[in-house]
Amino acid sequence: MLLMDDPVLRSIEMTTEAIRARSTAHWIIAFSGGKDSSAALKIFLAAYRRAKVNLSRMTLIYCDTGVENPVLDAYVKAFLQKVRQEFVELGLSINIELLKAPIPDRFFVRIIGRGYPPPTNSFRWCTTGLRIKPVSEFIAKQNPDNTVVVLGLRQSESRQRDRALALSSNLYWQKQREGKGDYDLFLPVVEMSVPEVWDTIFGLSLPNALDKSDLETLYRGASGECPVIKAPTAPPCASGRFGCWTCTVVRKDKSANELIKSGHFQLRPFLAFRDWLAEFRNDPANRWHTRRNGSAGLGPFTIKARREILRRVDALEDLTATTIIDVEERGVIAALWTMDNFARLAFRPQGNC
Ligand code: SF4
Repeated sequence: MLLMDDPVLRSIEMTTEAIRARSTAHWIIAFSGGKDSSAALKIFLAAYRRAKVNLSRMTLIYCDTGVENPVLDAYVKAFLQKVRQEFVELGLSINIELLKAPIPDRFFVRIIGRGYPPPTNSFRWCTTGLRIKPVSEFIAKQNPDNTVVVLGLRQSESRQRDRALALSSNLYWQKQREGKGDYDLFLPVVEMSVPEVWDTIFGLSLPNALDKSDLETLYRGASGECPVIKAPTAPPCASGRFGCWTCTVVRKDKSANELIKSGHFQLRPFLAFRDWLAEFRNDPANRWHTRRNGSAGLGPFTIKARREILRRVDALEDLTATTIIDVEERGVIAALWTMDNFARLAFRPQGNC
């Protein structure tokens, strides 16, 4: 078999060339914990060893939404701790940055503080604030013109079938256009199918910190993940959801159900809360009868409903011995309640839900 017919070898070759061509750039690896970004990281490390150049700056970023599925969250945090040590032992100067949304954008601050209804397919307010904005703001603070972001993004399965077409243009490089500065995206797994992604994960050794079997288990019932960069070809968040335990965009959380079946019983109360919240949003008695901008239609949760959600979150924290809403977030929620109470009494409410 010709080397370039092997998708993993071809990707390593393309990535090696890219690293050599942009050796003065800041390389940022966007890591989500999912299979595609894990494969992209493995290919990047294999290519970097082959390239035999010294990249001046490398950073691995992970965006912590604060509501990641607890099993995924524990897996990723353990991985990041181990890989930090492994990078040191390998002499790789790769920084690791944990990014977080600003407090007003966090999931429960929006829901309980501002009364946002939990997201649906038609009102998916969460992805931008929780995942995309923290990443784009981090990149904007670098030097976007001389930045390459490595993203585990694959082209659609249908286009993948036509590999001849794919080879005719360089799909590996894309330009990300952002208001705060354009930068380059490099997509090591762009041409790969799902089995090829798994071949990469199981076939390449570095980083050893990545537990392949744990990752495989996490994927039972999940087929995709939410994007951290709004690239034109990225599938919409939750099209095959793998991420927030609070996600109400999907009707049933297949991923959590499969994890529970495989023995992660600690997820049961989280799933029960999610299911309750999805029902709770649909009861008109829990919502303002107008939107924040005054137009007709169901608006934010009433303060009474927000108190009830908070009471249930508190009970969930007690039951699971976890912190779901931290002290700072609680402070912002209290301030937002005061503002909404004042606004309801004094004026017609402002802004959009
Ligand atoms: S997983 Fe669901 S809740 Fe989380 S960002 Fe994606 S769509 Fe929103």
